[in-house]
Amino acid sequence: MSARKFIAIAAIAFIAQGIQAQIPAAAPVAAPMTSSPLPTGRVTYRTYIEVMNELERIAKANPERVRRFELPHRSLVGQTIYGLEITHNVNASSGKPVFVMTGLHHAREWPTVELTMEFIYDLLKNDGVDPHLTALLDSVRFIAVPVVNADGYEMSRSMLVEQKRRNCRMEAGKVPTFADCANPANTRNGVDLNRNYGAFWGGSGANVNPAGDSHRGAAPFSEPEIQNMRELLSSNQVVVALSNHTPDAKVLRVPSSNEEPVPADVVPYDSLAQLLGGDLKWTAGPWPKIYYTASGTMEEQAYYSAGTFAFTFENAPGQRSFHPPYSFVIDQYFGTGAYPGSSSRAGYIRLLEAAANPKLHSVLEVKAPAGATLTIHKSFTMETAPLLKSDVASDSTRDAPIKFTQELNSSLVVPKGADHVTWHVNPSMRPSQHGTEFIREAWKLTCSLNGQSQSVDVVVARGETKPVDVSRCR
Ligand SMILES: [Zn+2]
Repeated sequence: MSARKFIAIAAIAFIAQGIQAQIPAAAPVAAPMTSSPLPTGRVTYRTYIEVMNELERIAKANPERVRRFELPHRSLVGQTIYGLEITHNVNASSGKPVFVMTGLHHAREWPTVELTMEFIYDLLKNDGVDPHLTALLDSVRFIAVPVVNADGYEMSRSMLVEQKRRNCRMEAGKVPTFADCANPANTRNGVDLNRNYGAFWGGSGANVNPAGDSHRGAAPFSEPEIQNMRELLSSNQVVVALSNHTPDAKVLRVPSSNEEPVPADVVPYDSLAQLLGGDLKWTAGPWPKIYYTASGTMEEQAYYSAGTFAFTFENAPGQRSFHPPYSFVIDQYFGTGAYPGSSSRAGYIRLLEAAANPKLHSVLEVKAPAGATLTIHKSFTMETAPLLKSDVASDSTRDAPIKFTQELNSSLVVPKGADHVTWHVNPSMRPSQHGTEFIREAWKLTCSLNGQSQSVDVVVARGETKPVDVSRCR
């Protein structure tokens, strides 16, 4: 949601409160909830420390199914950011397709942390109980990063800066302290992390001005929190990705800005968006058509770099708040109460199913010796948008787009006793940033064992399965 719209809604809420204040109180105050049907039974928003402690506890309690990992870069004020990887036999190398789900790019959107955390517990609780979820955990690697913007969450959840949206970057190129970030004089600063990804960075729907609510940052990927996400997306075969936000009742896909073409995969991509829209009872589609424009978003980077079917959910709508009372989190999760039939949980399961579906990505059937390390790699040039020079609407002059090199690189080890692996990957054919077409590129698949190696180029389209023989690498 934009700042202007939020201020307008806040003003209406304030006026409404004024009217309410003149009506004598009659109804007794409802007793506070003490438990909920959520997997953990929670009734309050987690603090950042609680989230971090829980991630550690969950991983320790489930060593066969959960691996906790550190993202490569600390937050600006120095916090380590963690994620969880969840699948059966999590520590074994495998070619399973990956679904990445994130919470909290935007600091005040607290429900996104809760929805992500509760889905983690839900999967673990139902694994071995619900045959469908059990089968999905057999075939998909689920990676969750519940709090992308760790500093922002600390600021907002602690109520130091409750309505904070962005990260703690107070001045381009300078590392802030916690106190700088908490200083009320600095609340108008920060980078909007969902405008800082490289693909189409600097285009429509992002502020050039550092005081702008959707400030894009000084450069593409200037923020460590987004470098983390870039590296997560490029070092795994992420076939499906979801960025959770609040509170506007939308399922969003690319294009998110005005500078983009109709995506080359529009038919299968939009079909999945519409199914998700059905699960949530929300409008689904490209940002400019059903919402507003935004450039430098997670789904632009994920889709145009790797062909990942990436989405945004705008959860917990209609409460005039980015973090409404907790009962709305519960209702949103299950599609009950205030949100009949609109279940984020159903959407998350739909995305797990989509990740498991080989028709929606590509498959390599690789013949290779046991113990060999297999890598697939691509390196290519991507572009930002032609750069807007100012936030003045009448100023349409632009600077040339910035070109940047994007690498995709993932690996696995062929298990003992095996002479073959099935590797679920993204298509090598890359969606163009300039037209409704694919760029014909190949994965370079390399097999290495005992100092020997063998490489082959593989061109594979979405929905295709290709045999690859690198058995001579021993
Ligand atoms: Zn948001």
